[in-house]
Amino acid sequence: MKTNVWAVDKLVDKLESYPQIIQAADYLKNNEVIAFPTETVYGLGGNAENSDAVAKIFAAKGRPSDNPLIIHIAETSQLNDFVTEVPAKAASLMEHFWPGPLTIIFKKKEGKLSELATAGLSTVAVRMPNHPVALGLIKACGLPIAAPSANTSGKPSPTLARHVFEDLNGRIAGIVDGGPTGVGVESTVIDCTDEIPAILRPGGVTKEQIEAVIGEVSVDPALKNSEAAPKSPGMKYRHYAPDAPFYLVEGSHAFLQKLVDEKRREGRKVGVLTTAEAAGDYQADLVLACGRRGELETVATSLYETLRAFNDSEVEVIFSETFPEVGVGVAIMNRLSKAAGNQVIYEKS
Ligand code: AMP
Ligand code: MG
Repeated sequence: MKTNVWAVDKLVDKLESYPQIIQAADYLKNNEVIAFPTETVYGLGGNAENSDAVAKIFAAKGRPSDNPLIIHIAETSQLNDFVTEVPAKAASLMEHFWPGPLTIIFKKKEGKLSELATAGLSTVAVRMPNHPVALGLIKACGLPIAAPSANTSGKPSPTLARHVFEDLNGRIAGIVDGGPTGVGVESTVIDCTDEIPAILRPGGVTKEQIEAVIGEVSVDPALKNSEAAPKSPGMKYRHYAPDAPFYLVEGSHAFLQKLVDEKRREGRKVGVLTTAEAAGDYQADLVLACGRRGELETVATSLYETLRAFNDSEVEVIFSETFPEVGVGVAIMNRLSKAAGNQVIYEKS
C-alpha cells in the first residue's frame, strides 16, 4: 500500500477545510487508517464505528486484540452517541482538561461503536486531543476516531512523523505531518465509572492537577505492583522498549559509570540516558541528554525520541538514570520501567 504523507502547518486557520486535511478525512470516511499528530504522541486513527477500519489499526501496529483503543472526539456533543452517562466528576474533568492529555473511561452505550475498538468491554475510553490538526481532522470527517499511538506495538511511541514513517510505511494509507508533538508521553487514563475515580495510567495530566479539581482519586495498585492484574488491559504489555537491553540505575553517576566501564571492558558498546545537566559526567559510546532534569516536562517531551535514537545507534546495552516520581515524573518513570521490563540496578540494597 502506498502511504501518502501530507505536510500541514498546524497554525493555519480552519484546518477542517484545508485541502490536505479533507483528503486525509476522506480516507478515514472510507475506513482506511491515517496517522496524525496530537499534543501527546502521533496517533493511528480509524473510524471507531466500523470494525474493518479498526481491524486495520490492530493489524498495522501488530497490537494484541484485547487492548482497547481510545476514542478521539472534537466536540463534547459526540459523546452522547456512545456513552450512557457523564458523571458529575467526569464533567468537571472535561471542563478543566479537554481538549488535553486526559482520557476518561465511561459506561458504553451498546451498538454504536465497533466491538473491536473497545475489546468487547462495557466501558469506553474517550479523549479530546489538544492539537489543531487532530481536531481539524476529526471535525472534517465527523466521526469518532479510534486511535492508539502510531508505532509498531512494543516500540517507543512516535513524537515525529518520521517515527511513524519508519514503523508503518507501506502499512497505512497516510500520515499527516504536523511537526513534533509537545507533551511527549501519552494521556493520563482515569476511570470515572466508580464514585472514586481511579487513575489507570499516569500521563500528561498529573494526579495533583486532577485532585485539585475533583478531590481524592485512587491509583490502580497494579501501577506499583507488577504482580497485580492491571485494570487497563494495555498496561500489562512490555512497551516503549529500545532494541538493546535497557536498565534503570538507582544511584550516583559514579556508580552508573562503573556499570558502563564493566560492560565496555567486556567489549560491549554502551549507551547512557541522562539529562543536559549531567551529560558531561559520563564516558560511554553514546551519551544522550533527554531534556533537563530541572524541568521534567522537557524530559517527557524528548523521552521517546531519545529511546528511538539508541535504536539508530550501535549500542548493545543501555543504562538510564531514574527520575523523581512527582508530577509528570510519575509518567516518565512508568514508561522507563516498562522499557526496562522492570529491571532496576540499585547502588545500595
Ligand atoms: P494507547 O492507545 O496505546 O495509548 O493505549 C490506550 C490505553 O487505554 C491502554 O492502556 C488501554 O488498555 C486503555 N484503555 C482503553 N480503553 C479502556 C477501557 N475501556 N478500560 C480500561 N482501559 C482502557
Ligand atoms: Mg501505545
